[in-house]
Amino acid sequence: MPLVSGILKRHQFLNWPLRHLHSSLMQTNLADFIEHTPDGQAADQILRSCVHCGFCLATYPTYQLLGDELDSPRGRIYLIKQMLEGAPVTEKTQLHLDRCLTCRAYETTCPSGVQYGHLLDIGRNIAAQHIPRGWWANTQRGSVALIEKTKIWDEHVRRF
Ligand code: SF4
Repeated sequence: MPLVSGILKRHQFLNWPLRHLHSSLMQTNLADFIEHTPDGQAADQILRSCVHCGFCLATYPTYQLLGDELDSPRGRIYLIKQMLEGAPVTEKTQLHLDRCLTCRAYETTCPSGVQYGHLLDIGRNIAAQHIPRGWWANTQRGSVALIEKTKIWDEHVRRF
């Protein structure tokens, strides 16, 4: 009997995301400014694929380091959802989105295959339209993008 209940428990654990799928799917109500755009449609699909399980928290470095759920994929997905539904965009929102290194560490644990990276790009663009950055921040970001694009950093690291 303990063996049977053990197998059942394990089976239930493995099926956790499926059992909760219907009750946990994210409901969305995107604002007019984005709803019928390609970004809006892509974002809507990605938002609906998240089942809020929180498995990504266990593997995400910025959450592990800072201990704030808004610095995890699930928290950022929530922030982006709020923006796309018309909530005011704040510097705090932009900060949490900026802190993501796009390392994709969560991908090994996400049971729903949420395309968080694409959603983050959409969210960052919206935030940038509402919260202008200063010249210094733009210069820093431009330099990092240039380094990334030209692979100067890769070449530098490979030398050591
Ligand atoms: S992103 Fe994936 S792992 Fe994170 S809460 Fe959503 S479904 Fe779960």
